[in-house]
Amino acid sequence: MARRAGRPAKPRPKLPGNGGPRIAAVANDIALTRMEAEAAIAEARKSHERLREAIDILPQGIVFLDAEGRYILWNKKYAEIYNRSSDLFEHGARLQDTIRVGVERGDYPEAAGREEEWIAERLTKLYQPGERHEQTLSDGRCILIEERLTGDGGIIGLRVDITELKQREASFRLLFDSNPVPMIVCALDDERILGVNDAAIEHYGYSREEFEKLTIRSIQAFESEPPWAGDHSNDEFTARTWKHVRADGTLIDLAIYSRQLIYADQPAVLLALMDITERKRAEARLAFMAQHDALTGLPNRNVLRQHIDDILLHTRRNAEKAALLILGLDNFKAVNDTLGHGIGDNLLRGVAKRLRSTLREEDMVARLNSDEFAIVQGGLTRPEDAVLLARRLLEAVGESYVLDGHSVVIGASVGIAMAPGDGDESEKLLKHAAMALSRAKNDSRGTFSFFEAEMDARAQSRRKIEIDLREAVQGDMLRPYYQPLVDLATGRITGFEALVRWPHPERGMISPAEFIPVAEETGLINALGGQMLHRACADAALWPDDVRVAVNLSPLQFRSGNLLSLVMETLKQTGLPARRLELEITETLLLEKSSQVLATLHALRALGVRISMDDFGTGYSSLSYLRSFPFDKIKVDQSFVRDLGTNPEAQAIVRAIISLGAGLGVTITAEGVETESELSCLRAEGCQEGQGFLFSRARPNAEIVGLLKAQSGVDSAAPGDAVAKAALVA
Ligand code: C2E
Ligand code: MG
Ligand code: MG
Repeated sequence: MARRAGRPAKPRPKLPGNGGPRIAAVANDIALTRMEAEAAIAEARKSHERLREAIDILPQGIVFLDAEGRYILWNKKYAEIYNRSSDLFEHGARLQDTIRVGVERGDYPEAAGREEEWIAERLTKLYQPGERHEQTLSDGRCILIEERLTGDGGIIGLRVDITELKQREASFRLLFDSNPVPMIVCALDDERILGVNDAAIEHYGYSREEFEKLTIRSIQAFESEPPWAGDHSNDEFTARTWKHVRADGTLIDLAIYSRQLIYADQPAVLLALMDITERKRAEARLAFMAQHDALTGLPNRNVLRQHIDDILLHTRRNAEKAALLILGLDNFKAVNDTLGHGIGDNLLRGVAKRLRSTLREEDMVARLNSDEFAIVQGGLTRPEDAVLLARRLLEAVGESYVLDGHSVVIGASVGIAMAPGDGDESEKLLKHAAMALSRAKNDSRGTFSFFEAEMDARAQSRRKIEIDLREAVQGDMLRPYYQPLVDLATGRITGFEALVRWPHPERGMISPAEFIPVAEETGLINALGGQMLHRACADAALWPDDVRVAVNLSPLQFRSGNLLSLVMETLKQTGLPARRLELEITETLLLEKSSQVLATLHALRALGVRISMDDFGTGYSSLSYLRSFPFDKIKVDQSFVRDLGTNPEAQAIVRAIISLGAGLGVTITAEGVETESELSCLRAEGCQEGQGFLFSRARPNAEIVGLLKAQSGVDSAAPGDAVAKAALVA
């Protein structure tokens, strides 16, 4: 406040006339006036003191200057802030002088080297009301200065010590600038990029200048809102994943952490950007691998199942049809075996590619298992559409492939199940299409087949057989029946073939043709074969010494690896001499051309066991099989014997086999002899041995003993008539 002392005295009224009383009155008046003045001065001092006390408790420094810039009043904080130069200011001193002295003493490091200029700037600021600026003092403190003009042309100056704030800001800058995590600060209102750190520049490839011309939205790939949209918390970092575009146009996935703050005096958002592109890619790769077949890149069974269910839903809603086709390659194993797995893999890739390119975009092809593919075709009106597709697929797959310089041709078959008729959910439809495929393969390869309800019934009864058979084998319920083998020259029974019989509790006697394949598929054949061998040898051990027993072996029994020891053990346990045992094998066993199989056969033969080739002439008959192993017997398949009377070719084949046998020194046995005319024909051709209903069906052991007794009885009475006797029994 202006000092009381400086105030001009009140004008007094002029004194009238002369005289003592007037003087006394005047003196009185003066005394009064002085008292008034003193009272007023005391009052003014008091309010000045009050004011000083008041401003002293303010946390900011405060200073009052008059219109000439002279110090009038300042508070403790002001003196404290300028403690080094507080010796300079006193009432009436001019600010500009104290500043100058301060500059000369080095109180203001910013002025060093440009003292006059700095003082001029400082004084200009002094008279620019409302301007704020910062000042650094020689001890490093930073002071915020704000100055205002008062009504009488003086100045009120405010000083705030912002050293701590500045330090915080500096550490924030350090944390921001040198942070390895890319960071961006955006204006909250217009989303302009206000600042970026070095890591962001390096990661995005935009220069700092380019960045500062962008908004956060302009570098977002898809998202139409800023990453802090809808986030109302100012205090916490909130994270989201986002896609950004880098300067070179590549996209990156980010986890963005955002937090609101004040930056350069405006509301802003700090974004910390974690690049998760690699993680996302790895996740996507894993997800792809979980859904696709690694070799062909086609969807796998899980995806297929889901897709079928989706299609089924769609067909129900739109009253349409859909087809599920399963395409199986024919003899794919042979490609693997002969050309190697590398070429096999390439072939599968080639097939997958052709299937894919034969289909419409919306049809799915998936890999089901090693050599089977499933195709889903939706939006059909009639089954014929599926036929057209099946034909196109077979044609496309059937064209030859050139793989590593080899030209490879592979056939295929297709099974078709139609929805909704053949199944209303994926598993059922897949099962039915697979049944149709196996029908197509059995009928003739290279074709397609539709599912029929009766296939399902068959499959179910097969399943039941499997369950029952397991029980029967475990319970040792199977029995060999014996069918005689007859010497056609003498009519004598030379031996019996053991044929397995399964007395089923509900279905009666079940034919081996029905359950042997099931036993082979389920692996039960080893147990079953072992049981038959044991029973047959045990039974035969009690027959006359010149009567042999023939036991059928499945190729799978050779794979078990212990066949030789099983035979040796069985012979030992039952006491049957090896020469009385015949083992019947089929050509399929030799198809594998495995040295282990041949070694086992040779070892068995070395024991004295005889080896017969069963069903000769069917399947893959190759004369080379006869050369690869010295068989003791060849059994001509019954299909040739049946046609003997009517078909000259059959007769020619039987004749050829018989002379082949003679040449090789191998016994020839005709299977399935049913009529006298067949018998006489075989005799005329010089066939040594026969087997068939004409002589006898297979019978339980109890009856065999009787049959053999009868034979020995006939032997003693009329030798050579056993055949007639046997036929009689049959
Ligand atoms: P296979 O070894 O060729 O046996 C001959 C089959 O022809 C037997 O059928 C027999 O009953 C039948 N058969 C015999 N004479 C005639 C005839 O004059 N006319 C007709 N139409 N058929 C005749 P089965 O017993 O049904 O056996 C079928 C096949 O099952 C056998 O053919 C054999 O491959 C297999 N099998 C039988 N028992 C066993 C066994 O214990 N183990 C193995 N692995 N397979 C067996
Ligand atoms: Mg046989
Ligand atoms: Mg046979």
